[in-house]
Amino acid sequence: MDVEEFRTRGKEMVDYICSYMNNLPNQRVTPDLEPGYLRELLPPEAPVDPENWDDIMNDVDKKIMPGITHWQHPRFHAYFPSGNSYPSILADMLSDAIGCIGFSWAASPACTELETIVMDWFGKAIGLPHDFITSNKGSKGGGVIQTSASECVLISMLAARNQAIQYLKKNHIEYGDIEDSVFLPKLVGYCSKEAHSCVEKAAKILLVKLRILESDENGSLDKQTLEDAIKKDKENGLFPFFVSTILGSTSSCSFDNLQEIGPICKAESCIWLHVDAAYAGNAFICPELKPYLKGIEYADSFNTNPNKWLLVNFDCSCLWVRCRVKLTSALVVDPLYLQHANSDEAIDYRHWGIPLSRRFRSLKLWFVIRKYGLSGLQKYIRNHISLAKHFEYLVRKDSRFEVLNDVRLGLVCFRLLTNDNLNQELLANINASGKLHMIPSMVNGKYVIRFCVNAEHAKQEDVEDAWRIITEHASEILEPCIK
Ligand code: PLP
Repeated sequence: MDVEEFRTRGKEMVDYICSYMNNLPNQRVTPDLEPGYLRELLPPEAPVDPENWDDIMNDVDKKIMPGITHWQHPRFHAYFPSGNSYPSILADMLSDAIGCIGFSWAASPACTELETIVMDWFGKAIGLPHDFITSNKGSKGGGVIQTSASECVLISMLAARNQAIQYLKKNHIEYGDIEDSVFLPKLVGYCSKEAHSCVEKAAKILLVKLRILESDENGSLDKQTLEDAIKKDKENGLFPFFVSTILGSTSSCSFDNLQEIGPICKAESCIWLHVDAAYAGNAFICPELKPYLKGIEYADSFNTNPNKWLLVNFDCSCLWVRCRVKLTSALVVDPLYLQHANSDEAIDYRHWGIPLSRRFRSLKLWFVIRKYGLSGLQKYIRNHISLAKHFEYLVRKDSRFEVLNDVRLGLVCFRLLTNDNLNQELLANINASGKLHMIPSMVNGKYVIRFCVNAEHAKQEDVEDAWRIITEHASEILEPCIK
């Protein structure tokens, strides 16, 4: 493809995307297909000769699009939002064209510097502590964009593990000069049952123990439960090194109380306190939601994903740390071929994460923040919250249903006032209809259906349409029970 063909096809692609977006409401939300459908439609071997562009796009239309779950559909209410917006798509296009691999400052100075600046903008807008913002006077911390929240949690735990091992080595010289891995069986981390499964995965990868503690009836990590677990582990000769808290849990959007958990961590010799706010953290750009952040001054690290709830396309997962050296000292390797003349004064993000290569992801966060302004982004968040409240109102008005979570942001967890089986059947029927898509979770031991407001331009009519579809299906399954 030469530049002129790209110019033509690129414009066609933008038209294709616009038609796709406009036609979404007329599509099923989820495909109606069996696994393996695509293998029957595509040749078993790669083509030897070049193919015609029109043939490729024809296959996209006929074979790929029918297998797409439409996450941007106005009636896609599963999971959390999958960030998307035209400025973000355009920024990614430009980033793909620039095609730089900005692992160090020298590898593409603008890529590194824009990331630092935009992470400062975003961190300040959220209200993160002084030390998390690179440009603040005397700050030793800063922000970095990772691929996913799972990666943010993993590298925070890795930094905590390194900090704990160095502490044990320094304070227990009786161990002598032994390998780091000898300390692994001593290390124990904590989170609540509401924490995302990525915390458990991180502990598995890092070969450390993790206590998954009971949460209270509000889905918050209970102070006393944490204190008791730490005490017991210490009595058994273990070393508590990491606590992962959650602001906005995946199951029910519950919140841990950082003001209670923080002092417990600080009272220990060396606990790293992480705050996972993958979804909810974005909302803290609204002044009225900042009270959920109370106690953040105790945290060592914090993550949130603009690719969930801030209109930025995947991938864009933001991690801030209070002390960047604690993070990088767990990750630094420095071969000659990656060194450069400005290594001492410039940030090299290759030391802040697992991959060496990194895309120019800050470009899309920058575009989105500038094109919407913080006021536009606040308006978007507030619209989702008010629509979730409207949905909650509709559910509570119908005596056949109950709401099981405290609806504070865009997520409502509800169920029929019957047994779990009927609720499972209700959800399965709704999803099979293709008209609406939701997923289940458990709240206080009960099976619930999660309804999350996701679409950028979600409207009251969309929520009311969704509720109509839900109640029609509910009437269908409840009717035989009434007879
Ligand atoms: N943490 C929370 C609170 C989440 O809700 C999720 C996913 O929904 C994750 C972590 C994992 O996110 P990612 O897919 O970016 O790894």
